[in-house]
Formats: sequence, C-alpha cells, structure tokens
Amino acid sequence: MKFIKAAIFLFALSISAILSLHPVAAQTKANVMFGAKNSASHQPANAYGRYAKGCLAGAVQLPESGPTWQAMRLSRNRNWGHPEMIGFVKRLSAKVATVPGWKGLYIGDISQPRGGPMTSSHQSHQLGLDADIWLLPPKKLNLSRKDRENISSKTVRSKNQKSVNNNWTPSHMEVIKAAASDPAVDRIFITAPAKIWMCENAKGNRKWLQKVRPYWGHHYHFHVRLKCPKGSKACDKQKPTVRQLSKNATGCDKSLNWWVTGALKPPDPNAPKPPKKRGARDYVMADLPSQCHGVLTAQ
Ligand SMILES: [Zn+2]
Repeated sequence: MKFIKAAIFLFALSISAILSLHPVAAQTKANVMFGAKNSASHQPANAYGRYAKGCLAGAVQLPESGPTWQAMRLSRNRNWGHPEMIGFVKRLSAKVATVPGWKGLYIGDISQPRGGPMTSSHQSHQLGLDADIWLLPPKKLNLSRKDRENISSKTVRSKNQKSVNNNWTPSHMEVIKAAASDPAVDRIFITAPAKIWMCENAKGNRKWLQKVRPYWGHHYHFHVRLKCPKGSKACDKQKPTVRQLSKNATGCDKSLNWWVTGALKPPDPNAPKPPKKRGARDYVMADLPSQCHGVLTAQ
C-alpha cells in the first residue's frame, strides 16, 4: 500500500514538473484554458491582440450591483473587463439614470476574468473592451442573484425583422446616443431596424450615429466596443470603414436598407456552401498573442 502511495506521489510530482516546464501546451484549446480561470491575473491592465483573438491582463470585476447598474447572469462570471470598460459602464449607467424610464443599466457579458476565447456565445469579448448591455429598461436595481439568472431582456424588433416593435422607445435612442457620445467608444452594434429608426428620428447633432452599426442579432441587447486603451500597445486597433472616415458620416445612407430587404431573403439553396471558417472556439493557445501565455499562467 505504502509503495503504491509513494508511486502515485512520484507520478504526480513528475507531471507537475512537466507542466511547470511547459506551462501551457501550444496546441491546447484556448477557450478551455481561459474558461477555467476564475480570477484576474495580478498584472498591470493590458489588452493583447484582437477583439476576437486575444486576452486581458489585470482585469477588474464590475461590482455585481451599483447605484445605477446590475450585472446579470452572474453564474457566467463574465462581469470582468479592462479598467477602462468598468469605468465606462459606471459612467454610462449614471448618465442613463437621468433618461426617462431608465433607472440605470442591466449589464450582460463583458469578458472572462482573463479575457480570451469562450466556450459558449461570443466570438469577440476577448479583450475586456466589449460589453453587452440589455435593451430592457431596469424597473429595479435590487434584483437577487436568482432573479438575474431568470429574467430576460425583451426584443425591440418586429416579428418580420423590418422595424422596431413597441418595446422600443425614444428613450432607447437617448441611451444609445449617450453611449455613442462617450469618447472611449469605438463602435456600437445593434439590430438594423433600431439604427434605421434612429436615422429617421435623431434631431440636432447627428455625428454620434456614425458609431452605431447595424448588425445581425443584437435586438435584446446592444454591444459596446471601446477603443484600444492608451497603455495597451499590443491591442489591435480596428480600422475605420470608408464611410466612417467621410466627414459628417452617420451611416444613414440608402445601403442601410439592405438589412431589412436583401438580408432577409432566404439563401439560395443552390449556392455553394462557404468554407467553414475557424472561429474563437477553434483557437489553440498558439493562435493567440504570445503574451496570452503569460496572462494565463500569472498569479
Ligand atoms: Zn456582444
């Protein structure tokens, strides 16, 4: 018996020695490694790589509740972000609390404690610089943990996907406008009917509309993406589109209509199937920036 115990001990010892020499094998699935981390790395905040292929050092956890926000679906443990993002959420929610009908914000997924690819949902959200914000105006901000698992947001899109529905209000535009007007924000993704509605109804200075992009889904929440923070030199900046660069661009041109016409046509059954692209769930550690090994293995 003693011999078996000693053998097991020696075996465990040699495995841990091998692991410490090769902390993370290059071919290990990245989402499994990052998904297993429950806490941030004790490092200065730094976003490495791309929004959809990278990781985050020194993340900060958004407090589960604050005066003007609540983090939802706490079981997912995705209320972690770059300090810039956590600051933004607090700042925006305080502003939104002054919008009629909105007490603040319900915050969906930001990132995992060390960012990186996830085992479910999102391609992006890997740098702690993306946040999903519910399009549901909070009735109260003292929801229990259980409530936050169970209540759902409401769609703002009509059944035929061509317009907004009765859940959408002018106050929703004020919320999106407040987010888009924040200088830290790079872009916002939202369902096309909402963008079209805002193009038709926004008065005064319309420059903020440029940051609001129509996108698939995003009718239960909108997605805010921040710019690469100043200190994060290895954060891969997104290129502005041609339309973004033109002066006074709002993205409210005719092409927007494609989203509620052409985009909704059923796909041609005879069209050749596009090749399957590798996505965030396929990445192995070797696909991520080299700094991400350090982020994963740091204390
Ligand atoms: Zn998102």
